[in-house]
Amino acid sequence: MFIEVKDLTYTYNHGKSGEHMALSGVNLNVKAGEFIAVVGPNGSGKSTLARHFNAMLKPSAGHVIVGGMDTAAPENVWEIRRRVGMVFQNPDNQIVSSLVEEDAAFGAENLGLPSEEVQKRVEETLRLTGLSQYARHAPHLLSGGQKQKLAIAGVLVMRPSCLVLDEPSSMLDPVGRAELMKTLISLNRAMKVTVVLVTHFMEEAVLADRVVILSDGRVALSGPPASVFAEVELLEGLGLKLPAAAEIAHNLRKRGFSLPAGILTIDDMVSYLKNSFSPG
Ligand code: ADP
Ligand code: MG
Repeated sequence: MFIEVKDLTYTYNHGKSGEHMALSGVNLNVKAGEFIAVVGPNGSGKSTLARHFNAMLKPSAGHVIVGGMDTAAPENVWEIRRRVGMVFQNPDNQIVSSLVEEDAAFGAENLGLPSEEVQKRVEETLRLTGLSQYARHAPHLLSGGQKQKLAIAGVLVMRPSCLVLDEPSSMLDPVGRAELMKTLISLNRAMKVTVVLVTHFMEEAVLADRVVILSDGRVALSGPPASVFAEVELLEGLGLKLPAAAEIAHNLRKRGFSLPAGILTIDDMVSYLKNSFSPG
């Protein structure tokens, strides 16, 4: 198990206005190499949970164990942050240099690696994120999607075993969003990077190995996308949408059409329709 969350409770201190329990009794395990999507309504605790995975936040009660190390122990924090890279919503806030390759190098330089090793890693991470051709470009001239890939490159250069991304695509256009997902999936499959993706796009969540739904600081539901997105009423009750293809399938079923279970993506829908209405 790469991440173990045990009875995690987190309370923000609002000063005079009192305390607010953002997470209560969360239990969750993330296996090495797994791709997890975390979804839930605004304010359900997704960002608070994500920030526990690299010890930015420490539990008020319970434990978060990363790679066997308790995030609450100060001596573990440096190693946990090297192993778990964080990517946030706004790519502009994550850019630190005026050249793409320098930006990607920053994290490796901070590890104190020799410059040849830094160079090697920068080339590797720019290749993995599809940015090699922009190495000598200014980051602010990149598209939103490319900037997010650069943020990922800046973390990958430290060779983390896990990436935690908090709504990384919410400022991107659909093309940038799709490209970012492709990059994450290939990092997960080819490089065995563990991915925890916080997202409000259900089309992204269906591509994960497992979907975790948070509601009011608790895990409301967790399982493979096909079983989670079959809980239509529970999702509707939380104000969450179904992925577009699943929504269409659900509406057709309500109107008496007998569609098979497990239609989650546009590709699923296309192959179902193809089989049902073969030409001639
Ligand atoms: P999500 O990412 O799912 O929208 P958050 O983890 O940001 O949810 O927030 C969970 C709850 O904690 C919300 O009620 C939010 O208002 C509260 N909260 C988040 N950040 C802070 C903070 N820095 N101080 C006080 N309360 C916060
Ligand atoms: Mg959030």
